[in-house]
Amino acid sequence: MTDNPFFTPSELPYGLPPFAQVREEHYLPALERGMADQLREVREITENPAPPTFANTIEALERSGRILHRTVTVFFSISASDATDGIREIETQVSPRLSQHADSIRLNRPLYARIKQVTTDDAEEAWLLEKYRVDFVRAGADLSEADQERLRELNEELTRLSTTFSQNLLTASTDSALVVEDAALLDGLSESTIKAIEKDGSYVLTLFNHTNQPALAELTNRETRRRLYELSTGRAPENFELAARMATLRAERAALLGYPSHAAYSVADQTAKTTEAVEEMLGKLVGPAVANARREAEALSEQAGFPIEPWDWSFYAERVRKARYDFDGADLRPYFELDRVLRDGVFHAAGELYGVTFSERDDLAGYHPDVRVFEVFDADGSPLGLFLFDPYARPTKRGGAWMNNLVDQSHLFDERPVVMNNLNITKPAEGPTLLTFDEVNTAFHEFGHALHGLFSDVRFPRVSGTAVPRDFVEYPSQVNEMWATWPSILANFARHHETGESVPAELLEKMKAAERFNQGFATVEYLAAALLDWSWHKLARGKTVEDAEAFENAALERAGITLGLVRPRYRTNYFAHIFFSGVGGYSAGYYSYIWSEVLDAESVDWFEENGGLGRGNGDHFRSTLLSVGGSRDVMDAFRDFRGRDPRIEPLLKRRGLQV
Ligand SMILES: [Zn+2]
Repeated sequence: MTDNPFFTPSELPYGLPPFAQVREEHYLPALERGMADQLREVREITENPAPPTFANTIEALERSGRILHRTVTVFFSISASDATDGIREIETQVSPRLSQHADSIRLNRPLYARIKQVTTDDAEEAWLLEKYRVDFVRAGADLSEADQERLRELNEELTRLSTTFSQNLLTASTDSALVVEDAALLDGLSESTIKAIEKDGSYVLTLFNHTNQPALAELTNRETRRRLYELSTGRAPENFELAARMATLRAERAALLGYPSHAAYSVADQTAKTTEAVEEMLGKLVGPAVANARREAEALSEQAGFPIEPWDWSFYAERVRKARYDFDGADLRPYFELDRVLRDGVFHAAGELYGVTFSERDDLAGYHPDVRVFEVFDADGSPLGLFLFDPYARPTKRGGAWMNNLVDQSHLFDERPVVMNNLNITKPAEGPTLLTFDEVNTAFHEFGHALHGLFSDVRFPRVSGTAVPRDFVEYPSQVNEMWATWPSILANFARHHETGESVPAELLEKMKAAERFNQGFATVEYLAAALLDWSWHKLARGKTVEDAEAFENAALERAGITLGLVRPRYRTNYFAHIFFSGVGGYSAGYYSYIWSEVLDAESVDWFEENGGLGRGNGDHFRSTLLSVGGSRDVMDAFRDFRGRDPRIEPLLKRRGLQV
């Protein structure tokens, strides 16, 4: 196994992983050796006879585990974007091992004792030192031997339950699919959709991992809608029990670590800091959002001619959109061609704001032929990093869109960033790839994360780029969405793929007006999920929940979500964000999206107050916020950018929630 590509640093430009050389059999040996190497490196730190210093302890930890880091980065990137059966098997095998490995470092008493003795006068070092100390405390470094033993047991059982939860979901997306024998019952779906879902004489609609299935907007048969909706909300019922068990175990773990609930533990190192802050914020939004949704429900029932049920909402929302706003999203698609959106939209906006330029590197390869590699240059022409773009859906890719780092920028290793964006756009059999406006917006959003990684200018990898609190990380990406509809940017990329004509202004106006409708629904659906997550994780130690569905209903009622017509975007049984740690572990953290949106709305206002698109504004955002990553208090960085503390009013205005 001397040819294992993970054993030596990549020789490709910017340290791009040598994907062409990586084979499945390389992962396990590289992970084994990576963990063993890091344990040896940690032992060298703890056995060092010299007194603990920043360099021989914290910096030495930052330098440790390079093989493991290289392997894990590539492995989890592939397991998200191109997971074959072999990759899935390795993942099941290594996930518990990796969590044990992390415990064995953070529960290492001699190491923790050394960290506590380190002092430094340098601000960047002091910030990192404190991060390490907090990481260790939060992982249980201060606990007694017996409590640490219990903690390891809890972590192990939680990892096991989380894996089962996610496997149940994967099975349910097909097992709970809607199957009909008679195509007439699918009236409203396009002919090509009906053709695509036909299997051995029947028709199979598989489930997306959220409550409201896209087909609900199109199916004209009310009974079909009801069946689809009930299959969606009732899938993987065995997960209710797993979720309740996980909530109880998390409460016990939080209590061991000195917190009244998992929610309190979870927000302590976030920008929210306390559960009260989160509750105050969510509490301000619920009333007005529910009132908005009620008004929308009335309009929908009026359109329908009868009181609508939850499975009717999307269908009549589309009817009202057409009737009131004369808008059909399909009319926009010919103006949103993928390559043009990327180069003349996303890249162009970054150029106008930050002066950066892009050049495609056909000589560099990703892990799949569809992955494109771009070299990014700064305004003065100096090299900045690499950007990888993987736009298309495939059976081996998980749903949604995301950004991840392949190489973290750091001065410590003198490394420039390599970042990537994944989208899930359906690849057409032939011809150009035409996007929906949502997909355009997502491309801008994900590139906002990419810029956060590309502009990182910090000393240590631990705090590089997007390594910021979870309730802050969505903020820069949300801000970047504003350029998707900025007039000069839009005029630059939204051109008809056949005629080259600009998108008619009238069509855009209709789109904007139509988008404002149904905001009540979108906000309530989101808030209900955030509050459900919150209730599960406010559970006190020793509490068990016998009937998880009853718990769910009571929690929503208590939080003021009294509108039965709008269910949470995710119910407990398929809330993977909070019960499957593999998707980023948003337990007691689903509030983050709207929490970040407060900063986003404030920042959009700032750009508009200061003349909008332009180098001066872009450079200010970059130098105060994007380039510092997690190397300092991110809320101080925000104040440097905005000139004051954030206010909630811009968000309320944007979502139509003013009281
Ligand atoms: Zn995001």
